[in-house]
Formats: sequence, C-alpha cells, structure tokens
Amino acid sequence: MSDPLYFPSSLTDAVAALKERGADGAPMAGATWIMRAPLRHERFDLAYVALSRLNRLRQIDIDDREIAIGACVTHAELAAAIVGMPALKALATAAASAANPAVREVATIGGNLCASGFAASDLVPALLCLDAEVELETPAGPERMRLEGFLTVRRTLEPGCLVRRIVVQRTPGRSAHIRLPLRKAGDYPVAIVSAALQLAMDGTVSRVHVAVGSVEAEARRWEHLEKALIGQPLNANFAFRMAEEHAGDFKGRDGVEAPGWYRTKVLASLVRRAVTELQAQA
Ligand SMILES: Cc1cc2nc3c(=O)[nH]c(=O)nc-3n(C[C@H](O)[C@H](O)[C@H](O)COP(=O)(O)OP(=O)(O)OC[C@H]3O[C@@H](n4cnc5c(N)ncnc54)[C@H](O)[C@@H]3O)c2cc1C
Repeated sequence: MSDPLYFPSSLTDAVAALKERGADGAPMAGATWIMRAPLRHERFDLAYVALSRLNRLRQIDIDDREIAIGACVTHAELAAAIVGMPALKALATAAASAANPAVREVATIGGNLCASGFAASDLVPALLCLDAEVELETPAGPERMRLEGFLTVRRTLEPGCLVRRIVVQRTPGRSAHIRLPLRKAGDYPVAIVSAALQLAMDGTVSRVHVAVGSVEAEARRWEHLEKALIGQPLNANFAFRMAEEHAGDFKGRDGVEAPGWYRTKVLASLVRRAVTELQAQA
C-alpha cells in the first residue's frame, strides 16, 4: 500500500510514483481543489504525490520571446511576476483576482488547469486568449500541446502524466480580463470575458482573440465575435452590439449561483467593459 502523501525528490521520481500508483494516485499541488473533493462527491482516498517541493515547477522564465510558467507557480507569484506587461494584462488580472488572497497564495496554475470539471476558472480563458501551450512530463517523455487541445484530454490523461510548464508567446499588443462575481456565488465568477488584440497602423483591429469562461462547462474562444471585430476600429459600443448579435453562440449552464440565461445575457456588457479597458491601455 502506497503512502497517502509522497514527496518525490525529482520530476522523474514524481512521474514514476504516479505511474506506479495508477488510478489510485494523483498529483497534489496547492490542494485547494482536492480539499473540496468530498463536497463534489469525488474520491478523497487517493495516494497523493506532492509537487510543491519540486523547484523546477516553481520557476517563471521570461525572455524576449516567451514566458514559461512552472506548474507549481501560485496565482500570487504569477500576478507579481508579470504585472506591468500590457500584452499579459489579462493573465495578470486573472491571477490577481481569482478566489481570495489566502487561496491565491497556495493555488497553482497547474492545479487550476488540471481541475477538470471546474467551469469558473479565471486562468483558463485568460490563457486561451493568449494562445498558451501546455508542456507535459509523461512516462514516454515530454510533450507539448495547445491549451485548447489539453482541455479536451485533461480528464483522460494516463497515470504519470504531469503538467510541467505553461508557455505564452510574448506578442506585442494588449489584453484584458473581465469577470462578473456575484455575492451569492461566493468567490466564483458567473461569467468571464478575456480578450487579447493587436491594432494595425490605422487603428483597426488586426488580430483578436476573445475567450469566454464560466458560461458553459468548458471555457472556449468566441470565434464569430472575433471575426466581427477584425478590420474594425476599436469601439466598445460596436463590440457590445456584435456580442449581443452572437450571444446565441453560447448555451449558459444552470447552477445554484446563476441560471444559464443570465450568464449569456451579461456577456455583451462584459465585452463592452473589456474593449473599454483595451482602449484605455493605448
Ligand atoms: C474558496 C475558493 C474560491 C475560489 N475561487 C476561484 C476563482 O474565483 N477563480 C478561479 O479560477 N479559481 C477559484 N478557485 C479554484 C482554485 O483556483 C483552484 O482550486 C486551484 O487553482 C487549484 O490549484 P491547486 O494548486 O490547489 O490544485 P490541487 O487542488 O492541488 O489540484 C487540482 C487538480 O489538479 C491535479 N494537479 C495539480 N497539479 C497538477 C500538475 N502539475 N499536473 C497534473 N495534475 C495536477 C490534481 O491531481 C487535482 O486533480 C477557488 C478555490 C477556493 C477554495
């Protein structure tokens, strides 16, 4: 029988320990999602492999080309490391405003992306709009995939697969992250819009990514809205009208904190706020 909590000495050791434990084991990072497993009626009797002492997973490497964030970097550490970088503002805001200060001190980026079934993640839409990639450590060696792809396979990762780093290219431009928390929803936002864009010399939108979180079970890009904004001047009221026109692209999930129709209804105003903020970043 394996220890209920094992502290591996290296990443290779962690992968081997997880492979050995199979379906009865799981990685543990900040444990803020794991600790609530009984509330979600999920297994809580797993043999956990703790990642928090693996220094390689705690590093943030920033160069001119990209930013590579170790899976065990906490929300608070991430927000502090990238504050003041306009292209990464969406990510900095997501990391700085998710949950509450105590949770942000321990909850990690890797744990957030691997909490499958968690629809209200702030980091996921922020990273989707920044076209992030996920680096995995697996028993067969390292693997790298786009975040969109990772979200579709994260539930079915083989035992022994770990998120190692999240990589974001440092393209020029600006970004924003707007969330709507409701008092009765506690610390979870009921809808999120993250957007990243670049403007052409004439002030029109030359590249834009918009991602929506917490509205449906999985966060995803809003492609019809992106198409409507390309080639247009950056205008909050125009963006609002286009968002209203395409709001039917989403089918809001009903939850105790908000009904599905409400989550889609608020999207256009979140888009207007996002564009207003993007204009202000000029
Ligand atoms: C009160 C409260 C309020 C919250 N509010 C928000 C909010 O507003 N916005 C928001 O985004 N989040 C919110 N959260 C969720 C929080 O962000 C997540 O619980 C947290 O990000 C998970 O990270 P963790 O390090 O604690 O993961 P853990 O709980 O340790 O793990 C989560 C899952 O990921 C797996 N895992 C962990 N690390 C890895 C890895 N490197 N590779 C593979 N699998 C891994 C674990 O096995 C587990 O299945 C809130 C949480 C709480 C408790």
